[in-house]
Amino acid sequence: MMALSIVEHYIGGQRVPDTAATSTSPVLNPATGEQLGLVPMSSIEMADRAVAAASGAYEDWSNTPVGDRVQCLFRYKQILEDNISDIADIVVAEHGKTKAEAIGSLRRGIDCIEFASAAPLLMMGRTLPQIAVSNSFCRTENEGGVGIDSQVDRVPLGVCVGITPFNFPVMVPMWMWPMAVACGNTFVLKPSERDPFSTIREVELVADAGFPPGVMNLVHGGPDVANRLITHEAVRAVSFVGSTGAGKHIYKTAAGAGKRVQCMCGAKNHSLIMPDANCEAAVDGILGSAFGNTGQRCLAGSVVVCIGDSAEWFVPALVEKSGEIKVGPGNDASVGMGPLVSIEARDRVLSYIDKGVTDGAELVLDGRKAEMPKTGCFVGPTIFDRATPEMSIVREEIFGPVLSIMRAKTLDDAIAMANKSEYGNMAVIFTDSGNAVRRFSRTIEAGMQGVNVGVPAPMAVFPFSGWKGSFFGDLHANGEDAARFYTESRVLVTRWI
Ligand code: NAD
Repeated sequence: MMALSIVEHYIGGQRVPDTAATSTSPVLNPATGEQLGLVPMSSIEMADRAVAAASGAYEDWSNTPVGDRVQCLFRYKQILEDNISDIADIVVAEHGKTKAEAIGSLRRGIDCIEFASAAPLLMMGRTLPQIAVSNSFCRTENEGGVGIDSQVDRVPLGVCVGITPFNFPVMVPMWMWPMAVACGNTFVLKPSERDPFSTIREVELVADAGFPPGVMNLVHGGPDVANRLITHEAVRAVSFVGSTGAGKHIYKTAAGAGKRVQCMCGAKNHSLIMPDANCEAAVDGILGSAFGNTGQRCLAGSVVVCIGDSAEWFVPALVEKSGEIKVGPGNDASVGMGPLVSIEARDRVLSYIDKGVTDGAELVLDGRKAEMPKTGCFVGPTIFDRATPEMSIVREEIFGPVLSIMRAKTLDDAIAMANKSEYGNMAVIFTDSGNAVRRFSRTIEAGMQGVNVGVPAPMAVFPFSGWKGSFFGDLHANGEDAARFYTESRVLVTRWI
């Protein structure tokens, strides 16, 4: 990684220097403030070149037998395994998460590659022989008519586009492109402009795995480039992961341009603590969920609802353990929580802490006072108690290490409080009661649910199934949904005369 170099695109099987950007944006190491390089923001011409490369590669790639296509994924998985530590180091430097978190996210990405390798099975169609009988060509009634067979195939779409966020710069793209290309599509990825170096490394390794040039392409940039890609006439489908504001815009714009679209968006996830919950499991689960990845996770449990008298034992135990988390640079193995991604992100989190205090929530752990490096984008674990549903710290996605605790008399009250949220990504409950779990699962408005688990992240064989303002579209990322999203049905009716 050369300091102050403009990061290159990856088009047609090679790194391509930018020749079109009218503006660039700096990429910083959020733990130190060191500038790592520049990212081109507005390369519309490069976006067009990437789509042209993907279009050019489509015919041959879609005609390559699926069994051969997944051989490239098998090889790619091994290459990724071999490079996992180096790529994780890049993630730590440009994103700020700890090395253990970076490795964990890469492992989840590898999980997606393994799942996409099942494309021969996932793409398989269905047949129904003798669905009807035609008498028009029969000489006698005894001949019984001519049988008609029917089948449905799943076929690739063409060029697919992915627009991805900063918080998992290597993993989230793997929710998209491995399944898309395994199904016979070609792909153009536009990663986040905030941490582009690990994503370009992820993508350029496809050449070593034997993917033909043009099957996988990457173009850097900001909203201008994203908007060009999602409306390009040669693009058939758009996958987006990012904030709800951008996701709503992408969904409307891309669908308006006739694309198939899936948008995985923002979140404000609620965790319910029943009085009968195991204290240690609840505290550990919430600790990891609220402060893992410095709270920059769409599955972060950023609101806790303590039911009955559970707050009495839960809040002091959580505050004590959260205060022990070591805050510092992600490349220090003793650190439990890294910095936020940028100065803007840190200032945004600090402004929410101010709002929580002004709105009257009780600040029981103040992350502004944590022991942490003076330079860099650090905020320590922060906990508000006695928050209420109308407060902005409960309603809005903060995307930082700020946890708000509310209190409810009953499970039903807690569920009603959680269901006020405009989001519906995930919800969890800590309890020993099967009855409470059943009621929770059937009435809480969240598409990913956990029981005695802080972060119920679905493995790649299951869909990443956010609801409400956390998702726009029909078919989710991962699971069988992904194979359906990246293919369309083709029905054939056959009569042999
Ligand atoms: P973001 O919305 O700022 O950016 C995401 C991507 O969209 C980037 O590539 C960005 O360049 C592009 N973009 C931003 N504004 C755009 C616009 N107006 N037009 C076109 N493109 C635009 O998100 P972020 O800050 O990078 O990531 C954090 C967000 O992502 C959080 O809200 C988080 O909850 C969400 N997220 C959701 C999931 C999920 O599965 N639901 C997973 C990870 C992250």
